Amino acid sequence: MSRLVPEYPRNQAEFEACCGTEAACRAYLERLRWPDSFRCPRCGETKGWPVGRLVQCAACGRQTSVTAGTIFQDTRTPLTVWFRAMWAVTGPKTGTSALALQHLLGLGSYQTAWAWLHKLRRAMVRPGRERLTGRVEVDETFVGALEEGATGRGAVKKVLLVVAVEYKGREIGRIRLRRVPDGSADSLQTFIDEVVEPGSVVHTDGWVGYDRVKAHGYRHRITFLSDHPEPASALLPRVHLVVSLLKRWLLGTHQGAVSPAHLDYYLDEFTFRFNRRRSRHRGLLFFRLAQQAVQVDPVPYRALVRQTRRGPPRGRRRRQANRHHNM
Ligand SMILES: [Zn+2]
Repeated sequence: MSRLVPEYPRNQAEFEACCGTEAACRAYLERLRWPDSFRCPRCGETKGWPVGRLVQCAACGRQTSVTAGTIFQDTRTPLTVWFRAMWAVTGPKTGTSALALQHLLGLGSYQTAWAWLHKLRRAMVRPGRERLTGRVEVDETFVGALEEGATGRGAVKKVLLVVAVEYKGREIGRIRLRRVPDGSADSLQTFIDEVVEPGSVVHTDGWVGYDRVKAHGYRHRITFLSDHPEPASALLPRVHLVVSLLKRWLLGTHQGAVSPAHLDYYLDEFTFRFNRRRSRHRGLLFFRLAQQAVQVDPVPYRALVRQTRRGPPRGRRRRQANRHHNM
C-alpha cells in the first residue's frame, strides 16, 4: 500500500467525475485494494480476469469481489452512495452528523445514517499504526457523555479519557486518545505502552498512575502541579488544547449526543481528523478513508464487526480514580 500514490478528487466536480458511477467506484476501490495487481485471497495468485463484478483467479478459479471483507461487504447500498457518504464525512473540517448525512443522502432513517457513520469510523483507525515518538505529553480528563438507554437527552455521565500528544517543536504533532475505566497505573500504563514508542520522553504530572513509566522503558519527565501556581492547563498545554478542541467538536458537530459506549468511535474519528488537519486537500482524507476501508490485511475484520455490534471491547467498570482536572 505504501507505494500507492495518493489519487483523490480535490473538489466536488472532480469527485463527481471520479466516483459518479458504480463501475467508477468499483475501479477506484480495486486500485486501492490491489495497487500493484490483483491478489487472490485464497492462493495469492496475481493473475485474474473480470467476471461481472467479480475477479476470477487464474490459478485456483476462486471469484473475489473487491468489497469482500471490507466495510462495503454485503451491502445492498450502491457504492456511489457509500462514496458520497465518505466524501461528506471527510469534506468539512468538522465532519458531519448523522442527521446531516441522512438529509444529504436521502436515507430512510436516522438510524441508518448513524450506523453508516459508525462503520466509516471503524475504517478511520489504521491497524498497526506507528506509536508516538520523541516527547509526548500524557494526561487524563473527564468528558461528559449521555447515559445509554435514556430516551431523548439522558443524564450526562462523566467518562475518563487518557490523551497522548506528541511534541513537534512548539507545535502539536500526532495524538492518541482512549477511554479508560479509571486512572490507575494498570489503565494508564497499558495505554502508554500501546501508543508511545519506548525510549521516548513521557511528560506527565505527578499522579501515582504514572509511577511505572520509567520501569517500562521510557524517560519520564514529571511536572508536579503543587510546585506551580499556574492552572493545570499551563503545565501540559498540548493535552489541554486537544481536549478543548475535542469537547468543542463533540458539542458542535454532534450536539453532545454521544453515549459512553460509543465514545471510542468518536475518538477514532477525532484522531483521524486531527492527525490530518494540515492536509492541503481535504480529498486526501477521502483517499485515506477509502484506502483504509478496503484494507483487509492484517485487519481481523470479523473482530471489528464484533466490536461494532457488541460495543467497545474495553470494560466499563464504574470505579474511577478520585481525580479531576477541570479541563
Ligand atoms: Zn487463487
